[in-house]
Amino acid sequence: MKVVTTLDDLRHARAGLLGPVGLVPTMGYLHEGHLSLATRARAECASVAASIFVNPSQFGPSEDLSSYPRDLPRDLAMLKEAGVDLVWTPTPEIVYPADFQSWITVEEVARTLEGAHRPGHFRGVATMVAKLFNVFQPDRAYFGQKDAQQAAVIRQMARDLNFPVEVVICPTVREPDGLAMSSRNAYLHGEQRPAATVLFRALSTAAAVYAAGERDAEALRQLMAEVIDSEPLARRQYVSVADPISLHELQGPIQRALLSMAVHIGTTRLIDNLILGDI
Ligand code: AMP
Repeated sequence: MKVVTTLDDLRHARAGLLGPVGLVPTMGYLHEGHLSLATRARAECASVAASIFVNPSQFGPSEDLSSYPRDLPRDLAMLKEAGVDLVWTPTPEIVYPADFQSWITVEEVARTLEGAHRPGHFRGVATMVAKLFNVFQPDRAYFGQKDAQQAAVIRQMARDLNFPVEVVICPTVREPDGLAMSSRNAYLHGEQRPAATVLFRALSTAAAVYAAGERDAEALRQLMAEVIDSEPLARRQYVSVADPISLHELQGPIQRALLSMAVHIGTTRLIDNLILGDI
């Protein structure tokens, strides 16, 4: 496995990869969720590339950029084990030189949910992913359903800007108790950890009543809110029952929906989601 930092080294190493090339972008502090993307890429592509970069432009001023967990040696060992061929670990100065001034803004699909609560987040994500697509020129890029709106924003951007990349979305990998794996789970301490299962409990409760015939969007939202509010350590930021493609909030009877939520457990902000019905 080759590990490079500079753009010149990356371009040189990329030129030596056999196609098709699969790309797995990450912010590091890897877990089984990230590895599931690398494993899928390994199975589908001749070469697998990954990036590890905590992208400052997708963090708000009061968010956890400086405390975001990092462990590069461990991450590299895990990527090597997963059969990754090339890893880019740039510095912020390489990605955003002093005179950087070009940004990508995805509009409609980035406005709701996470976009509404994290202003500028998807501008940072879309710009970073566009740069990754340009420098790696991957045939396929692998993202997690865990970040459902991010997946929708990247799909939209790739289509709108004619990036010749197939965007592949992989299922959310969970802990045995249902908590979606996330680098931010490292922030959870003591009784916060079991409390954090409340997101999956809320989603599962909504899925169960949907399976039993409930179709009213507001009833599903209400139910998820009640489950979250029943957990003393949880503070609900939003719960949503939205169209899985447009991400517009749904009212009345639904056929299919993206259930999603953001919940604070202490100071840790967690998100999770589930799709109901066929999309
Ligand atoms: P991050 O390092 O948090 O930026 O995540 C990098 C990629 O891994 C993104 O495409 C995420 O959606 C994906 N990812 C993160 N957590 C999970 C998970 N639990 N299951 C599947 N994919 C995940």
